[in-house]
Amino acid sequence: MDDRQFRDAMGKFATGVTVVATEVDGNIHGMTANAFMSVSLNPKLVVVSIAEKAHMLGKIMQSGTFSVNILAADQQELSMIFAGQVKNHQEVVFEHLNGVPVLPNSMAQISCEVSAAHVEGDHTLFIGKVRDIRVEDSEPLIYYRGKYRRLAGD
Ligand code: FAD
Repeated sequence: MDDRQFRDAMGKFATGVTVVATEVDGNIHGMTANAFMSVSLNPKLVVVSIAEKAHMLGKIMQSGTFSVNILAADQQELSMIFAGQVKNHQEVVFEHLNGVPVLPNSMAQISCEVSAAHVEGDHTLFIGKVRDIRVEDSEPLIYYRGKYRRLAGD
């Protein structure tokens, strides 16, 4: 099995798109991630998987907190900005939820405290204890087979 085959197989799993954000010494850092999952209801836990080469890894280690922002269909540009797919630096305005930076107008803003970090292969799984949540009603941005998609109408 080669890397291409593995990527192709994983790309067949349609997901939403999130931006993970954290703040260190007043500097906010965001990163696009679709490796996100709900883990437990009691206590309320989520997980994100961060590549060892991502700047985000050290930043979450330092801050001990992060947010997961579930993107709406009209936030594709934010996904591209935080995946490093936009050449020119763009200013992005954040707000705060429970002291953690969150993206305005996301479908869900989930503010977390790191409860555990597990290194697995070339990624680190951060388990986040959910401290606060804000939700908005809108349509989700979808990622499937390496492309952004929208939900078809019912
Ligand atoms: P950088 O590459 O340093 O930053 C990413 C970009 O965000 C840069 O262009 C930077 O300028 C910009 N940025 C950061 N903070 C700010 C700010 N405050 N204001 C404005 N711009 C800012 N990687 C994973 O590890 N796990 C995943 O689950 C994952 N899922 C992905 C899903 C999708 C749909 C895509 C497209 C990519 C995914 N990636 C994932 C890859 C990851 O998003 C990129 O590799 C990313 O560039 C790595 O981020 P970094 O922390 O190294 O930050």
